[in-house]
Amino acid sequence: MLNEHNVDSILSTKTIGAMLAPFFMFVSMQLPQKHSATGTTIFTVMSALAQQYNAINLSQGFPDFHIDERLSQALGDAAANGYNQYAPMAGLPQLRQAIAASFARRYGVQVDPDSEITVTPGATYAIYTAFTAILSPGDEVIVIEPAYDSYIPNIEMNGARAVVVPLLSPGFGVDWQAVQDAITTRTKAIIINTPHNPTGAIWSRADWDQLAAIVRHTDIIILADEVYEQLVYDGERHYTVLEHEELRARSFALYSFGKVYNNTGWKMGYCIAPPVFTQAFRRIHQFLCFTVNTPAQYALAQHLSNDSAPIHELMQRKRDYFLGLLADTQFTVHEPARGSYFQVASYERISNLPDKEFAEWLTREHGVATIPVSAFYSNGKEDKLIRFCFAKKEETLAASVERLKKIGVAQ
Ligand code: PMP
Ligand code: GLN
Repeated sequence: MLNEHNVDSILSTKTIGAMLAPFFMFVSMQLPQKHSATGTTIFTVMSALAQQYNAINLSQGFPDFHIDERLSQALGDAAANGYNQYAPMAGLPQLRQAIAASFARRYGVQVDPDSEITVTPGATYAIYTAFTAILSPGDEVIVIEPAYDSYIPNIEMNGARAVVVPLLSPGFGVDWQAVQDAITTRTKAIIINTPHNPTGAIWSRADWDQLAAIVRHTDIIILADEVYEQLVYDGERHYTVLEHEELRARSFALYSFGKVYNNTGWKMGYCIAPPVFTQAFRRIHQFLCFTVNTPAQYALAQHLSNDSAPIHELMQRKRDYFLGLLADTQFTVHEPARGSYFQVASYERISNLPDKEFAEWLTREHGVATIPVSAFYSNGKEDKLIRFCFAKKEETLAASVERLKKIGVAQ
């Protein structure tokens, strides 16, 4: 039996050493580095820095306001009503049906809920799973940069190689000739993102046609990251790959509920792909996580049929409010974000620091956290640009710009 005395003796230095020996042996082992990205993702770094300096956090992309009460209520109800066990592997049928109905209503496209939709724990996971379903060691994937920071590590974790094509600057259009030139016999896939994080650019129908022309006589697969599909402004509209029949037949389309219902922490998303691709996706998914949070699926299935004001109206008001305020600072905006909830701005009038140092300085000295745009380039390319997330309460945006206004031009 344990008493004070033998607890002491159990925890003598010698005993502790013996207990920990296998642990130290373990941590000194060489573990494989599965991808080339070193360090911690910029979103974690900047949010932690914001906390450390008590700064206003316009860095990591997440809203700072409450979700629709009906949605939180539906989540609580689902748990209280006993929907707490495993859902079917592909996702709750009523949620997949609600997703299909939403695409039919909003884009006029028919998606089969049984053979084409898989519910996932967020889009990051869906992207990884799609890559894992299609990639073999030695394959190449074309990544258009700046790009969301999980793409290249996900490609490399599968033993494949990312071939990077930069967007044109200024304006962040796609350099189609460069995409064409990047294709080799090993090119397995191209990952694209529209509306685009971090630049806020959106693809037109003509962009999809250009892509179709490039891949037409190849077996190249498309991953279309459309997580911001509902965040498009100024009367423009999102074109989904699902509307492009030719491309749809060779595409995985990836979505996140977090961007639509302001609940990024729920980590809920889905993948839409032709049946053969969906089967391959589910072959991986069933052994990666098998199935997704059941009460959240019930809540989302119910909420998809609720009438809500379109999310882009709210976000456009926030974008316009933020841009109006930013005009009184020394930051310059090349173009208002056409989509997503991010605004890129230049600080060239304020400082010559590289963007990561500038973002750190801005957080520490002025209490506003942002994301340095070089974090979206594998070679760290930097153009004195930072990214603001404007999915925030007006008071948050106003308070942050009050701080930014105090920063003068570089001497
Ligand atoms: N792709 C892009 C471009 C994103 O900005 C995000 C934001 N997190 C994701 C994918 C991942 O979404 P989720 O949080 O659902 O994993
Ligand atoms: N998508 C969000 C962003 O770009 C957050 C992603 C993350 O935290 N991994 O800020």
